Amino acid sequence: MKATWRDDINRRHQCIKEAGLWRARSTLSSAQSSEVLLSGAQVLNFSSNDYLGLANNPVVKEAAKQAVHRWGVGSGASHLVCGHASPHHELEQAIAKFVGAERALLFSNGYMANLAISSAFLNKGDLLLQDKLNHASLIDAGLLSRALLRRYAHCDLSHVKRMLSNVEFNKLMLATDAVFSMDGDVAPLAGLALLTEKNNGLLLVDDAHGFGVLGDCGRGSLNSVGLKPGGNVLMMGTLGKAFGSFGAFIAGDGVYIDHLIQAARSYIYTTALPPSIAAASLTSLSYVQEQGGALQKSLSQNIAYFKAQSAATGLVLMPSNTPIQPILLGDSARAQKVSAKLLDRGVLLRAIRPPTVPEGTARLRVALSSSHSFSQIDRLVNVLSEVVDGQC
Ligand SMILES: *Cc1c(COP(=O)(O)O)cnc(C)c1O
Repeated sequence: MKATWRDDINRRHQCIKEAGLWRARSTLSSAQSSEVLLSGAQVLNFSSNDYLGLANNPVVKEAAKQAVHRWGVGSGASHLVCGHASPHHELEQAIAKFVGAERALLFSNGYMANLAISSAFLNKGDLLLQDKLNHASLIDAGLLSRALLRRYAHCDLSHVKRMLSNVEFNKLMLATDAVFSMDGDVAPLAGLALLTEKNNGLLLVDDAHGFGVLGDCGRGSLNSVGLKPGGNVLMMGTLGKAFGSFGAFIAGDGVYIDHLIQAARSYIYTTALPPSIAAASLTSLSYVQEQGGALQKSLSQNIAYFKAQSAATGLVLMPSNTPIQPILLGDSARAQKVSAKLLDRGVLLRAIRPPTVPEGTARLRVALSSSHSFSQIDRLVNVLSEVVDGQC
């Protein structure tokens, strides 16, 4: 008798549950905000990537409403057939100008933008180097491609150098998260750009968590170290996190953007983002620029406040200066238990467990927003200090 799918999957579920790694969703019954309704209870939200509080911003919502009136709901087709509308086009131009690139290309989301590199750039004989802690979508792009995928130790430039001298390859691509999504620390972008350049390679910087947050007015991680997309640097940014909307882009020199339009399967073979969403993103982008850095400033103040209050209560944080402030717990079951206790006390702070993070490094990932108030942060720190030190 062949094994049945049902038996096999039931067995796998058993293992997942025994390891304390079962995943379940909780359903919100309110808009994304610093406080949300979860199973009928109002809770403080420290789990969202809505770093600038724009997901429920009245100006952005109004733009989305108007755009639905004008453009309808669906885009109806892929960009190359007849789904590319003027809000998409204007958004691409606005993003390119904002980040200082020649061109930008919109994708449905960041996952698909990252996957684009496998079909558009990588061939047999090429080498793709990636940071060990890169986002799953970058890793998947490498696995989908025929290039040789190698992962270097987290942020370790000397490991990159060693790999470059030990492996034969045609062309090099190096891909890194700019701000690591589950750690909050920042990649050595200048060093990586230099090493890539020396080897005639391309550097793909995934700035899902830096775009809108770091750099002048939120221009991103590259901007924060005096670089920009162009030359041998491509920047991927997302619109579903700090910009409170949905979608993603790759920005860089025109030749690479044109090539993505020719060859990126995750661009070509999919329905375009709804034009109303592109219009909402465009408003979100201009709103951020009009605020002239005020949103990023209040976010930085919240980060500094959270770190100071945590230190004062003896709460140990991972090293990070970004809105992502994880508390390492190690054991998955413990992380899950602490997260449940926090929820009982009115704080939504989800545990992040393997395989999202390496084995034995389960954590609480505090995500701060400019929309949090100091008193909300005080409540978080109080509840954390009760629950994290406790014998759970
Ligand atoms: C969220 C995220 C993505 C995926 O972006 P989506 O638009 O949510 O698909 C890619 N890379 C990193 C580092 C991310 O955190």
